[in-house]
Amino acid sequence: MELNNLKKWQDKLHVCIRCGYCFEHCHIFKITGWESDSPRGKLIMLHGLLQGDIKPSDYLAEKMFECYMCKRCEASCSAKVEVTEVFMDARVDFAEAGYDVVGTTSGTNEDLCCRCQVCVAVCKHEARSLDKENKKIVIDKVKCQSCGCCVAACPSGAAYSQEGFRLTPNELREQVVNYLAGGVE
Ligand code: SF4
Ligand code: SF4
Ligand code: SF4
Ligand code: SF4
Repeated sequence: MELNNLKKWQDKLHVCIRCGYCFEHCHIFKITGWESDSPRGKLIMLHGLLQGDIKPSDYLAEKMFECYMCKRCEASCSAKVEVTEVFMDARVDFAEAGYDVVGTTSGTNEDLCCRCQVCVAVCKHEARSLDKENKKIVIDKVKCQSCGCCVAACPSGAAYSQEGFRLTPNELREQVVNYLAGGVE
């Protein structure tokens, strides 16, 4: 795998002093509690990739596409590590190498989709477009920042967010119901 975009961070990732201040602000880490889901853990894995200590894999690619690009980690980082910039470069390299992973990016249920393109219009990141030839919505997973706007705007319920991160409409509804029932974690 070529690391054409990531390699510009080769001599910069040591700026991360591994303090972990970014942990408490990351939604994904809060869910799993795994170091490999934290901003710090992901930066360490990318450092290992750049050094040749670990090999590219679906697992590592998936981790890079699991991020809401909220930048809360960056806001809390005293070392000013450009975490999301690093992840974006990693995404491009993994995508160019042919890794086709999902992460937190949105999807489209083609059976429900009426091709109205509302999701295309609301996506500020230009991640959605209509493939006119194949008559379907395509999603650029590198560009998708998992904001959920397409899911909220889709009139057919065809656009969806990945389950498992407690942010889909069903997952949010369940949390509200639990909260109102007094069973909040
Ligand atoms: S990214 Fe920043 S906050 Fe997170 S471990 Fe590295 S230096 Fe600390
Ligand atoms: S930008 Fe990504 S890694 Fe950073 S806090 Fe948000 S979800 Fe976590
Ligand atoms: S808004 Fe929904 S129904 Fe319309 S094109 Fe997008 S996914 Fe399909
Ligand atoms: S989740 Fe957000 S960034 Fe991703 S395709 Fe939908 S609107 Fe665009």
